[in-house]
Amino acid sequence: MDKKTLYLQAYRMFDRVHPLRFNCGRLCDQVCCRGTDTETGMYLFPGEEKLHQSSDFLTITEANFRLNGQPVLLATCNGSCPRTMRPLACRIFPLTPIITPKDILLVKVDPRAGGLCPLAREDNPFPIRPEFKTAVRRCFAMLIRDPDIRAFLKEFSAELQLF
Ligand code: SF4
Ligand code: SF4
Repeated sequence: MDKKTLYLQAYRMFDRVHPLRFNCGRLCDQVCCRGTDTETGMYLFPGEEKLHQSSDFLTITEANFRLNGQPVLLATCNGSCPRTMRPLACRIFPLTPIITPKDILLVKVDPRAGGLCPLAREDNPFPIRPEFKTAVRRCFAMLIRDPDIRAFLKEFSAELQLF
């Protein structure tokens, strides 16, 4: 499957599944959609940029580090987007997939989200829905059949040091 089709399929998996039953943006005034810059933009997964080449709401830049030998691409926005085309990182936030050294796919709260997202805090009174975690796991079980995405995620996981 080509990358565009693969990511469109991944995007659709989050059309109806969200972290909470209500819009979690009400808890924080949508802080994760504010204040992005080239240091704090969303990662694009390998080949995801192909879906956004003519985007008028995302700016794509290269981060100053590489994963799997390729520069990591960061997307930033001005705080609004057509919801159907928001990047995968926005859809899964504040969770992240990781692949352990034993090659097991897990879904964790992204440690980088802790200072920003109320759902990522230890005292969060609104547990993230199991359905959402399952959707993230299913999505990445599909995506890591692609060797580029698997290799990226393995290196990314080692960087996060969550195991
Ligand atoms: S994912 Fe977290 S930071 Fe983003 S809107 Fe929901 S609660 Fe706020
Ligand atoms: S692309 Fe959309 S969902 Fe993602 S940070 Fe920007 S406004 Fe929020």
